[in-house]
Amino acid sequence: MRAMVLNTLGTPLEWTELPDRQPGPGQIRVKVTACGVCRTDLHVVDGELPDPQVPIIPGHEIVGRIDAIGPGVTGLAMGERVGIPWLGHTCGVCPYCRMQRENLCDHPAFTGYTRDGGFATATIADARFAFPLGEVGDDVSLAPLLCAGLIGWRSLAIAGDAKKLGLYGFGAAAHIVAQVARWQGRAVFGFTRPGDVATQDFARTLGATWAGGSDEMPAEELDAAIIFATVGDLVPLALKAVRKGGRVVCAGIHMSDIPSFPYALLWEERQLLSVANLTRKDGIDFLRQVPEMGIVPHTTTYPLENANQALADLRAGRFDGAAVLVP
Ligand SMILES: [Zn+2]
Ligand SMILES: [Zn+2]
Repeated sequence: MRAMVLNTLGTPLEWTELPDRQPGPGQIRVKVTACGVCRTDLHVVDGELPDPQVPIIPGHEIVGRIDAIGPGVTGLAMGERVGIPWLGHTCGVCPYCRMQRENLCDHPAFTGYTRDGGFATATIADARFAFPLGEVGDDVSLAPLLCAGLIGWRSLAIAGDAKKLGLYGFGAAAHIVAQVARWQGRAVFGFTRPGDVATQDFARTLGATWAGGSDEMPAEELDAAIIFATVGDLVPLALKAVRKGGRVVCAGIHMSDIPSFPYALLWEERQLLSVANLTRKDGIDFLRQVPEMGIVPHTTTYPLENANQALADLRAGRFDGAAVLVP
């Protein structure tokens, strides 16, 4: 197999030839056909997440086909198309696993962060954490759903029954969530970097009622807002934009420090929450409904060996929607 490997934090990934790996008990080997590039991959490469591990193969929006099955795997078949998400393994016995909050497991493994991911021609996955994808939709379009879509879905659920929903940071996740929210009949308000007119236009093409800079305030109060951008300064701005009793959900794994702000912004039962990881139930619920939702991910594809270019373009905001690597 070949992979783009992170050998040293903060340095480019290296195109590497590796021996083929065999799935162990409970594992499958997946021939990767597409792998999305997520902002979390940048945090992995930059060493911004706790306990970074190298060498590691990043990538946790994996679509591929099973080409080897380890002992004890049931319910999956050779050649079946599956998706491998960020949540790569949970312990099953900690208090969080037992209270159906496996997203908070005390001993998890995360694809492309603490176990090798999908910036490769093949990957090994815990079979219990692979989602069967069926045959509807193409591999490249499905890839961004595995994290941008899934985390977006969980964030949307946590945002509650908000008719008027603000999305701060209109990247891969927001561009999918906007489509899901419109399908659910919500009004979407898209917030971008100030002056990013192109992305504001992009948000409007996806059905946003309003789009503007994060420093602007729409004419109407929002019921809830989800912050996908990694900028802590957005927290007080979003709290200011939501009505009494409204919610602000921080959906990113990493954020710069939140500046201090007047208590009045939180007062009147506004809620500030974060979303961490996903559960398998999130994945099953979301992916089951994807064919009806009519989501059309906006993707830019790169050959696998150009992963560093994809990461650089993501960092610089050089494309709208999601980048996908194709081996
Ligand atoms: Zn656990
Ligand atoms: Zn991700």
